[in-house]
Amino acid sequence: MKNQGSALTERAILPEEKTFRHFINGEYVDSTDGKTFENRDPVDNSLIGLVCEAGQKEVDAAVRAARAALNGPWGKLTQADRVELLNRVADRINERFEEFLEAECRDTGKPRSVASHIDIPRGAANFKAFSETLANHPTETFKLDTPDSQGALNYGHRVPKGVVAVISPWNLPLLLMTFKVGPALACGNTVVVKPSEETPATATLLGEVMNECGVPTGVYNVVHGLGPDSAGEFLTAHHDVDAITFTGETQTGEIIMRAASVGLRNVSMECGGKNPAIVFADCDLDKAIEGTMRSSFVNCGQVCLGTERIYVEQPIFDDFVARLKAGVEGLKLGRPEDADANFGPLVSLEHREKVLSYYKLAVAEGATVVVGGGVPDMDETMNDGAWIEPTIWIGASDDARIVNEEIFGPCCHIRPFDTEEEAINLANDTDYGLCAAIWTENLSRATRVAEAMEVGLVWVNSWFLRDLRTAFGGAKQSGIGREGGVHSLNFYTELKNICIKY
Ligand code: NAD
Repeated sequence: MKNQGSALTERAILPEEKTFRHFINGEYVDSTDGKTFENRDPVDNSLIGLVCEAGQKEVDAAVRAARAALNGPWGKLTQADRVELLNRVADRINERFEEFLEAECRDTGKPRSVASHIDIPRGAANFKAFSETLANHPTETFKLDTPDSQGALNYGHRVPKGVVAVISPWNLPLLLMTFKVGPALACGNTVVVKPSEETPATATLLGEVMNECGVPTGVYNVVHGLGPDSAGEFLTAHHDVDAITFTGETQTGEIIMRAASVGLRNVSMECGGKNPAIVFADCDLDKAIEGTMRSSFVNCGQVCLGTERIYVEQPIFDDFVARLKAGVEGLKLGRPEDADANFGPLVSLEHREKVLSYYKLAVAEGATVVVGGGVPDMDETMNDGAWIEPTIWIGASDDARIVNEEIFGPCCHIRPFDTEEEAINLANDTDYGLCAAIWTENLSRATRVAEAMEVGLVWVNSWFLRDLRTAFGGAKQSGIGREGGVHSLNFYTELKNICIKY
């Protein structure tokens, strides 16, 4: 997390727009106790602004506003009216694309080329896609016609869950937050969002968009803050929150599940991963290298679906390692606005400390550094930023911590294998189960291996190719439940069965 606990006096030296306030009941508000923390730019560690930190009072107010909207104007809208409003929200995000882009890049340091293709367009798309899914979803019906029943019609009627708490991470802030807010609102719920303390900007800006589009006040609320003993804990423990949808680390997920157990509130958990790629000798090597460059290094490796373990069939192992190394050497580090840059800093100095501790550990565990392994020399304007070298290792043992623990940085370990069975066993030998990538031109093998993967998502000859109608989520310690398409409708609604005897 970024430096926190700054003195209130600093606020006076900042222009008004550099304070990130809570968005409650359609208005931007400060914390009543005036508590704030700093938001710093990972490119050079300069101060972007101060973020208000919510206490119990702000969380109570946000949940109250969400409940009132649910029982009031929002709850009374027809589905068609809701869909129209959410389409307007998507359009308005696209109209204000530059502002969202600027805000996201400032918070995360990621290249504009990445955020303009992924974060912002997909953030907008989340509002359209789920409205359409809902509008086109058939109603479940069963006609019971037995001698006993003498005729009855059952049909499923979807009602919103209620007030939904959305807890989101910093790596794809707008995209991951709207992946939950979009379907939650489409289904008629109201939300209280707790964005990551690292990335408060786009969630805050979205409040303006909601007002501009005429979304009733209280439907979308944002409380800023940290996790424990702060907004995150107060929100997930709140007795009037009906469901909690979370994206973040597995350990945080465990804490939130404990909070949700009080009152038996529903949870959806999208958590960490230690995702494998299996590269067979019969693959299209150009495509496998291009795909792995993205899966291991895009967004500075800070993607839950990222590949940190790569298993390569022995005959092409040396070639694969050499070509991936060449790819890494060709990455261009730079500021978000640098049009040539395709690699930004990590999200914060604190996260860099964590990733660097794994870089040190790799050497201590006997891994060979193929490329990278440290902190790059940046020009003096960026030297204080959270920059790190993209890194490849080989030669670590299968039980090394760098092969088993999620690092969430721009790094991967590559290991050779001899047989398909060996590759499957190695890939599955993990507590996580988010996703896997398989590179082969043999369709039978691709199908066989894909079905053997103990994960929620498999990509064959591709990576992160997303269709919002499909199921998204992880197996094992990578999550609980599925979102995406109809699966989101299942989470964000209660399906009530109505039986009519005729
Ligand atoms: P994190 O778990 O540290 O934080 C996520 C959110 O939870 C933040 O908003 C944080 O403030 C909040 N939080 C922390 N402690 C809390 C508590 N006790 N109670 C309530 N809220 C609390 O995760 P992060 O560092 O922001 O994100 C990186 C992690 O997210 C990685 O593990 C990554 O794999 C995972 N992730 C998973 C997916 C997925 O779809 N499976 C997507 C993106 C990121």
